[in-house]
Amino acid sequence: MVKLTKLIDNNCLVAPGEKSQLSKRATVADDILPDRQAANEATKENTKAIDALQDALWAEHHRALLVILQGIDTSGKDGTVRGVFNRCGPLGVCVTPFGRPTDEELAHDFLWRIHKAAPKKGVIGVFNRSQYEDVLVVRVRGLAPADVVEQRYEQINAFEKHLHDNGTRVLKFMLNISRDEQRERLQQRLDDPSKNWKFNAGDLEDRKLWDDYAKAYETVLDRCSTEHAPWRVVPADRKWQRNAIIAATVRKTLEDMAPSYPKPDWNPSDFKIT
Ligand code: ADP
Repeated sequence: MVKLTKLIDNNCLVAPGEKSQLSKRATVADDILPDRQAANEATKENTKAIDALQDALWAEHHRALLVILQGIDTSGKDGTVRGVFNRCGPLGVCVTPFGRPTDEELAHDFLWRIHKAAPKKGVIGVFNRSQYEDVLVVRVRGLAPADVVEQRYEQINAFEKHLHDNGTRVLKFMLNISRDEQRERLQQRLDDPSKNWKFNAGDLEDRKLWDDYAKAYETVLDRCSTEHAPWRVVPADRKWQRNAIIAATVRKTLEDMAPSYPKPDWNPSDFKIT
């Protein structure tokens, strides 16, 4: 487990202050996780451990964990939520998807809706898309002036530092799939009737902007991987590798946080239940 998380970090972590070189990063992880069955078994173990650690985090009621999932359409954000947090009960995990902002949200600063959804003490919060959309889709589609987008990178870094300094650990995963894999996944949404509902013609428009999104993601990784909230680029063409990498990292992070059950300030043996 420790060996695996070291390997993951050697391969996936974006060192703060360094160039992320996104185009050179792998979309498969055969060198880290060559065996599907072993990887699935590790994921099963890790999700069980995450559930137990979450229980202690809730009992401790002192700190929180925020897991941010970003990636282009079909990169597997929903699948990750299912594959990694499926064992945790609904009490301690709160998943928030971020779609197009409402009028009310647009009437506030871009972090308003994000901060409101940040996990409270004791909870694991999972963001399916996040504040990063405001420097990704907004930049690529020109939804805000360039100088407004430009100042957001530092604002995001300051916001995440604020969360960190107030007891919320921030984990950020960019799900990295290849263009070919995206084509296959989109095609499946057309071919498989049970997946038709996921198909959105707008995704084809975004696919045409693949290179622009890649550039926008690279800027995010270059500028917003910090000591307190580093980015990990997860090879995500194979779903079982993606889940194994994220489950191991979440477990390791919770173990490092080491939540503990609070000790009562009374003696259990003083009570007798009749
Ligand atoms: P998903 O594709 O994540 O399954 P949706 O189909 O609801 O979910 O898509 C969400 C859409 O909302 C995406 O196209 C995303 O780019 C867009 N979106 C998210 N945040 C913003 C934002 N701040 N500004 C504009 N569009 C956004």
